[in-house]
Amino acid sequence: MSDEEVALLVDESIRWNMDWDLADYKGRIPRGIRPASGINNLIFRCPDCGEEEGLQVIRGRYLDCNLCKSRWRVGGDSSLTNERTGERRTSTEAFRHILTFPREQRDFGPQGKGYIRALDVPVYLEVDFPKQDLLGNYDIIMREDRIDFIPVGEGDPISVPFDDIHSLSLEKHYRFQVRLKGRLYQMHLHGKGSAIQWEVYLQLMLPQVNHFLIRSMEEYYLAPLEKKST
Ligand SMILES: [Zn+2]
Repeated sequence: MSDEEVALLVDESIRWNMDWDLADYKGRIPRGIRPASGINNLIFRCPDCGEEEGLQVIRGRYLDCNLCKSRWRVGGDSSLTNERTGERRTSTEAFRHILTFPREQRDFGPQGKGYIRALDVPVYLEVDFPKQDLLGNYDIIMREDRIDFIPVGEGDPISVPFDDIHSLSLEKHYRFQVRLKGRLYQMHLHGKGSAIQWEVYLQLMLPQVNHFLIRSMEEYYLAPLEKKST
């Protein structure tokens, strides 16, 4: 068996469930009950047209694109099959594929231009680990050179220049963290967009952070559930 065949076999045997940490499975390993659940966190752009905001998981089984109307059936083996064309990809292949799409700024109307936007996101500030204080809810926009936090209710806007960012990390798949000198902002993105997209885009845009992470993210996020449950 060639290396490629082995890699394919591994890809195809991997199961996927982004909600693993959030759901109460009472120690049981789910087998294809909701195989598409949370996959839009990893496959954050339509593998067909590249659309970023119109992806939706339907009935835990399908990934739909509202723009080009593609529907991908997600298998318990992590595969994505295009219902229209029959094209089949593993989620690893689909992830690598969407990373090849050009990243362009979009016009968010009164909020200006940016790469990614997440609305009404609870944001926590940590100065003395492990104490975190809820700052409030913010609309968060990734610009060319900074992240802007626009308060949804009371509060002052916050701007984090890319140059000030020391490191990035994810917790429980949906809490995205940026660490600056002396403080850390944690954004709770569950149901508000893909935390992986935020981390990957910043990894690609920030020269001071390490680019090997995309590879290590694949290994971590596509790890078999059996491994995670131990
Ligand atoms: Zn599409």
